[in-house]
Amino acid sequence: MDSNAGISARRVAGMGWLWMVCFFHMVSSLEEVLLDTTGETSEIGWTTHPSDGWDEVSVLDDEKRLIRTFEVCNVAEPGQNNWLRTHFIERHGAHRVHVRVRFSVRDCSSMRTVASSCKETFTLYYRQSEADTASQELPEWREGPWTKVDTIAADESFSQVDSTGKLVKMNVKVRSFGPLTKHGFYLAFQDSGACMSLVAVQVYFYKCPAVIKGFASFPETFAGGERTSLVESSGTCVPNAEETSMIGSPGVRLHCNGEGEWMVAIGRCTCKAGYQPVDEERACQVPSAVPMMHQVSRTTNSITLSWPQPDQPNGIILDYQLRYFDKAEDEDNSFTLTSETNMATISNLSPGKIYAFQVRARTAVGNGPYSGKMYFQTSVGGERSEMVQDRLPLIVGSALGGLAFLVIAAIAILAIIFKSKRRETPYTDRLQQYISSRGLGVKYYIDPSTYEDPSEAIREFAKEIDVSFIKIEEVIGSGEFGEVCFGRLKHPGKREYTVAIKTLKSGYTDEQRQEFLSEASIMGQFEHPNVIHLEGVVTKSRPVMIVTEFMENGSLDSFLRQKEGQFSVLQLVGMLRGIAAGMHYLSDMNYVHRDLAARNILVNSNLVCKVSDFGLSRFLEDDASNPTYTGAPGCKIPIRWTAPEAVQYRKFTSSSDVWSYGIVMWEVMSYGERPYWDMSNQDVINAIDQDYRLPPPPDCPTVLHLLMLDCWQKERVQRPKFEQIVSALDKMIRKPSALKATGTGNSRPSQPLLRNCPPDFPSLSNAHEWLDAIKMSRYKENFDQAGLITFDVISRMTLEDIQRIGITLIGHQKKILNSIQLMRVHLNQLEPVEV
Ligand code: AMP
Repeated sequence: MDSNAGISARRVAGMGWLWMVCFFHMVSSLEEVLLDTTGETSEIGWTTHPSDGWDEVSVLDDEKRLIRTFEVCNVAEPGQNNWLRTHFIERHGAHRVHVRVRFSVRDCSSMRTVASSCKETFTLYYRQSEADTASQELPEWREGPWTKVDTIAADESFSQVDSTGKLVKMNVKVRSFGPLTKHGFYLAFQDSGACMSLVAVQVYFYKCPAVIKGFASFPETFAGGERTSLVESSGTCVPNAEETSMIGSPGVRLHCNGEGEWMVAIGRCTCKAGYQPVDEERACQVPSAVPMMHQVSRTTNSITLSWPQPDQPNGIILDYQLRYFDKAEDEDNSFTLTSETNMATISNLSPGKIYAFQVRARTAVGNGPYSGKMYFQTSVGGERSEMVQDRLPLIVGSALGGLAFLVIAAIAILAIIFKSKRRETPYTDRLQQYISSRGLGVKYYIDPSTYEDPSEAIREFAKEIDVSFIKIEEVIGSGEFGEVCFGRLKHPGKREYTVAIKTLKSGYTDEQRQEFLSEASIMGQFEHPNVIHLEGVVTKSRPVMIVTEFMENGSLDSFLRQKEGQFSVLQLVGMLRGIAAGMHYLSDMNYVHRDLAARNILVNSNLVCKVSDFGLSRFLEDDASNPTYTGAPGCKIPIRWTAPEAVQYRKFTSSSDVWSYGIVMWEVMSYGERPYWDMSNQDVINAIDQDYRLPPPPDCPTVLHLLMLDCWQKERVQRPKFEQIVSALDKMIRKPSALKATGTGNSRPSQPLLRNCPPDFPSLSNAHEWLDAIKMSRYKENFDQAGLITFDVISRMTLEDIQRIGITLIGHQKKILNSIQLMRVHLNQLEPVEV
């Protein structure tokens, strides 16, 4: 049993054809048993010679179980030659077998009447044979016909046996022999004068188990005939993998050593293009990673997440496995849950805690890789609301009317306090808490310009970072006030993480410094996974810096242009969902962005989109080189992204942000196309005024374009709220079949802009007129027979309903369905029917 990896590797290397050697972690070998007398209770019946030599007897073992043993103890007479021969043992393909013998030997000196030839050893032989031909006389009972394996000595002999047999010393020895070539073999045990007992004999051989390594599968392989043999085995690439062996040494091979362990790999397979390696190089035909996750809702002790299916499902997805753990704790303490849909609610969480989540999809072939970690936080409840409930009576006495009063009063008090110079932080903190805990929403954003001393807003909302904790590594962009850099931030005792650092170029005025830092005092008030996170500011040294989380893929518009056509619709919808969720949070905070556009969304490596750019400077600066923002200094407007009421009379609200969001949707679905292409700003304003709207981008699902049209309602009150947009997108993510229907595939229609509603729609009074208008008159009877008369009923029809009333042509089904979607927009039914 002395083969080892070192010897074997040297042997192979010496052969000269080895171009790649690596040692696999040893995969445990398989033992196949050919004979085992352990536990035998009935007669074993091996052949003995002469008749007064070995004897088969039943004895009780240590645990008082009856076992069969072979004993011999002719120690008083010299010249002993006692043989014991096994039955014929079939080889079963083994090249080398191992014999494990359990035996005890009596100490010669402990016995009174012993010949000087008394032994404490026995000899093991074997003889190969094609068939079971042995008889009482043959093969002869001497060495010649038999091959000696070894003379085996006891490590421990014993002197006497007490009544419990306790002083018996057991020995276990293993010997091996080979190469074996015939059908089978016999074993023989020769005694030359010992007093011994053979308690058990096991005969076995080693096999290397079937294994998949390096994307290749190798069959079960028997160990070779020599102790140091390496038996070569050819591998087959797993499905969707291909060989990457070097020319001149084709094939993928592994070697099975004498102890049934795989080693020395030559050549390998790798996943074909488009397939992901998974499961420690064991497969390529499992689903790819789930690209992202979204938070659908949360409570103090639960979080509901949804996610799109992997880009390459590579089979039918059976279920998803979600893995999660408390971010503050060890990753090893993670939990998993299985969901059959692409949505799950994780319960029993703690309030206000951040949890890391990963999800993977499973097909019949196996699990895909886990997605990157995403962090979501449960809401903070309990403590605060209880505190508010305790204090409310003290402040306003009566609960219901008092609550409204409290909110209004608190806002009024806050406004007064912020206008005045004498701000009392503990008091305002408390007031803020009441507002934020009113159970109806979240706390309000405070405009830093309401602070008489803007540095106070910075102190209040942004953490000062010691500049020595920051390492600037490279310049990645240029901002309004200076360079934007990539760097690392390491707080003492904490782990280092990557950050983006905006710097304020030298030579700035005090006013510019305040403007620059105002972005940080706005950003510092926000905490949401889809809003860029402020790490802090450096104001005590030069240059002044704003440090934020680093977003690996930079701004969304340029990212999409670089990756044109490379994302699935679901991935794009996932991005839009993130932006909508960030905007929902900001609108709940009463923050109006005014400049929502793909250029102001940042994307991280997990494709998570975050709203950024909270600076106000570009609205103020007179910079002729930036035509996106037009108008007089102080009121510059990005016309193409801005709602008409904001363009005309500066009415900026969350509803005008919703208009801009619709434009962002269009930018995303067209991979960064410029809204309204090369039309002039004035042409855009005129077209919008005449109810023209952007058409669907190529391959854009109808439901998404309808949502855009909703966002571009002339009347701002008719536009959806961000909360409704988030839930409409969530529905699409949960049921992606809704995204299948698309409009035209033209990249740029001959008439670029659409009228928002078909101009004749409001004038249509019944189903017949409508079918005439869309040139589907032939189906009037189908609608009549099904009792589909009013628009209200028709607008609720699904694809299945259309098929059910006998419309079989797919083109007609699509045309009718698209028109029904528009009907819903016209009827102001917010959420499009899922088709
Ligand atoms: P801004 O001044 O915010 O418009 O930033 C200018 C450019 O710097 C952006 O267009 C991005 O390309 C890059 N940038 C800004 N912030 C980040 C960030 N947090 N992570 C990565 N890139 C950023």
